[in-house]
Amino acid sequence: MRIGPSPTGEPHVGTAYIALFNLAFARKHGGKFVLRIEDTDQERSKPEWEAQIMASLKWLGLDWDEGPDVGGPHGPYRQSERQQIHREHAMKLLESGHAYRCFATKEELDALRAEQIERKETPRYDGRHRDLSQAQIDAFIAEGRPFVIRMKMPTDGTTVFRDELRGDVSIENEQVDDQILLKSDGFPTYHLANVVDDHLMGITHVIRAEEWISSTPKHVVLYEMFGWEKPKFIHMPLLRNENGSKISKRKNPVSLMDYKSRGFLPQAVVNYLSRMGWSMPDEREIFSFDDFVENFTFERISLGGPKFDIEKMSWVNGKYYREVLDEQAFGDHLLSYVFDEARLRALVPLVRERMDKGEDFIGLTEYFFSGDVEIQPDDIKPKKQTFKALAQTFERYADLLDRQDDYSPAALEEVTREFVEKEEWKTRDFFMPLRIAVTGRKASPPLFDVMTILGRPLVRRRLRNAVAAAKLGAKQEGKNK
Ligand code: GLU
Repeated sequence: MRIGPSPTGEPHVGTAYIALFNLAFARKHGGKFVLRIEDTDQERSKPEWEAQIMASLKWLGLDWDEGPDVGGPHGPYRQSERQQIHREHAMKLLESGHAYRCFATKEELDALRAEQIERKETPRYDGRHRDLSQAQIDAFIAEGRPFVIRMKMPTDGTTVFRDELRGDVSIENEQVDDQILLKSDGFPTYHLANVVDDHLMGITHVIRAEEWISSTPKHVVLYEMFGWEKPKFIHMPLLRNENGSKISKRKNPVSLMDYKSRGFLPQAVVNYLSRMGWSMPDEREIFSFDDFVENFTFERISLGGPKFDIEKMSWVNGKYYREVLDEQAFGDHLLSYVFDEARLRALVPLVRERMDKGEDFIGLTEYFFSGDVEIQPDDIKPKKQTFKALAQTFERYADLLDRQDDYSPAALEEVTREFVEKEEWKTRDFFMPLRIAVTGRKASPPLFDVMTILGRPLVRRRLRNAVAAAKLGAKQEGKNK
């Protein structure tokens, strides 16, 4: 059993969900649970994200038996450190005739794509270098043309695999593209690295999200090409928003760091996630991880997309406060949440100049602890801008910060100033509503220091609330006209 998160962003609730079901299955059957970091996307993968994914899973108690930090017999556990292994395996397929070099340039492929779209066909690779003669291959290599390695998908027949939850899934081979296995920079694609590593790491059950099911036929064919025994495949239903769409941060907080910063109990989050598409034989809602493991079977999974709802998770958390934890344990939780030492220490430089005695502290810092801050549309309206413009600009700004990896004050200041300039807003018109949105106040310590300490999840929430307030203002503005 394994999870293979890609460290390209905040730790996602979906990663915890899949980790939980892998871990439960491993614990139930005495198997090992492996954490493999799938960091083949060199540009988007960041060590900070890897660290945060690991910290969040640990926070939830979803511990792994093998992984980059604890080691194990199948390491290394970061795909970026296994490049050589992936390359060797691509070469093996090349030698056995199951793969080939494709020299097509980006321009060529773009043109192909454009033509196909124009003809209203599904864009796909047309196999143009699948059957090059050795002389042509040698000539291209001599020219020094870069190439990728593609797998030679059979052009006829059907690939069938069994999904343990769905039964047989089949696809006509001619519908499957000749997948790139090795990119021209020598890095493997997800498909090659995933299959090779699952095999070499002795993974017997691939338990992953439904969104990968369309990749599985390629994986199954790869197992056959290598002559390896296939693992069992279990594709878990996707978590969904209330309206049935795939869970997204626009509708729901999806970052595990968000739950931690709101003061959720890890065991309540785990309990809630256990009930996503799974239920206890007696349908009870509150149960421990050990109870989950004891009762765990895949037969109890239902495939109707489970709805993730933060309100419902809060209700479960409240149940833990009132019915599961005793007073001592509840007190311990509160203490560690409110008096989080790292957070308190970060506030020291911000309050030192402004305090004469200890009791001044709470009044000065209350918005660091208060979750949402109440704002009315009129609180944030800049004189020279409409509510509509404010809503749109704040929305773009919130999106920008979501993509911002470096959340230090200096980095935030830089991207914010650039943003304001690009939007052609007066600095004052932007910074005042921003300060109020983020702190609920007109005056605060240096804004970017504040934002760094508040942290991404809370800043995101407050900005989204401000967007909502500005939209409300725009509505009223419209009516008054
Ligand atoms: N790297 C993939 C992810 O981020 C892993 C998918 C799989 O488990 O095969 O989810």
